[in-house]
Amino acid sequence: MKTYAIAAIPGDGIGPEVVDAGVEVLEAVAKRDGGFGLRVDRFDWGGEYYKKHGRMMPENGRDLIRKHDAILFGSAGHPDIPDHITLWGLRLAICQPFDQYANVRPTRVLPGITSPLRAVDGPELDWVIVRENSEGEYAGVGGRVHQGSPLEAATDVAMFTRAGVERIMRFAFGLARSRSRKFLTVVTKSNAQRHAMVMWDEIATQIAAEFPDVTWDKMLVDAMTMRMVMRPQTLDTIVATNLHADILSDLAAVLAGSLGIAPTANLNPERAFPSMFEPIHGSAFDIMGKGIANPIGTFWSSVMMLEHFGEQAAAARLMRAIEKVTGDRRLHTPDLGGTARTADVTAAVIDAIHGANV
Ligand code: ATP
Repeated sequence: MKTYAIAAIPGDGIGPEVVDAGVEVLEAVAKRDGGFGLRVDRFDWGGEYYKKHGRMMPENGRDLIRKHDAILFGSAGHPDIPDHITLWGLRLAICQPFDQYANVRPTRVLPGITSPLRAVDGPELDWVIVRENSEGEYAGVGGRVHQGSPLEAATDVAMFTRAGVERIMRFAFGLARSRSRKFLTVVTKSNAQRHAMVMWDEIATQIAAEFPDVTWDKMLVDAMTMRMVMRPQTLDTIVATNLHADILSDLAAVLAGSLGIAPTANLNPERAFPSMFEPIHGSAFDIMGKGIANPIGTFWSSVMMLEHFGEQAAAARLMRAIEKVTGDRRLHTPDLGGTARTADVTAAVIDAIHGANV
């Protein structure tokens, strides 16, 4: 029997609450399925670790998780530590060296959840956003000089490589092909950004030729925000740069009902390194320790992890269990307007996993 090794990195804020819930649910589904086992190793890296050690994770941190089959990540962010330190010290310190260049974010209005869009009911909003996760605006290229003087200057250079754009386009066209509508929207800003974004568009056209069965169109990112709100049913798979997709996927998450539901996978499609699965929300310190964090985003991310393992039956079972629970409004946490607690939602999902009809 295959046993998958999972590195759990709960991180900060509500991260530990949702990751603990996620591990419980994963263990329940593995037990119910019976065809595979899980070994979960926990790594308490993040803001508290930084306060003690002056870094977000140990120097050999990546070596400790390199051999795992996947990473389940909570959130990194701490009110006492600047965001760029928490982000670059942990999440990006894993994503970039592990070449998790495809960030995949499914968005759907789950049963029982109300979208803030009046016109949207279930199937009208069913998207997957593919975010380029290794370069672009977040490449880390740039610098700062003459700090504190009137001559101070700073640059952040968006760096796009042909290899980087080709591989994300190929991944996105492939994902679009695997979905029933076979339709991809390529987000761009080539009217104003006339170098890298023009190359982005050219490469999209070139890769499209490899996927003649996929229909595609192109949208400027500003117009895209309007289309997501006004004509959500005209979108399916979406590919965008690191920055553009970062912003669009937060919009997508709230249009689907709550930031607490949305999942994401940071994939290394070649499987040379472990891929990382996490809810898209942050550390949400305002609700930390109150027991009311919505764990659904972590559960849905766990579904993506099981799909990545090739455990399709277990993934589908967990997704059905999640949908059964969101369909019951008594099991909605406060972010969805309910009064349920993290533990109630977790117990209900585990119950549904063991239920005969799920
Ligand atoms: P960070 O700085 O780490 O990104 P943040 O607190 O600024 O974190 P988020 O955590 O992404 O931002 O979310 C903003 C707000 O949405 C939170 O303050 C919280 O009230 C709510 N929220 C986010 N995730 C959840 C969740 N899983 N359950 C309930 N509410 C949530």
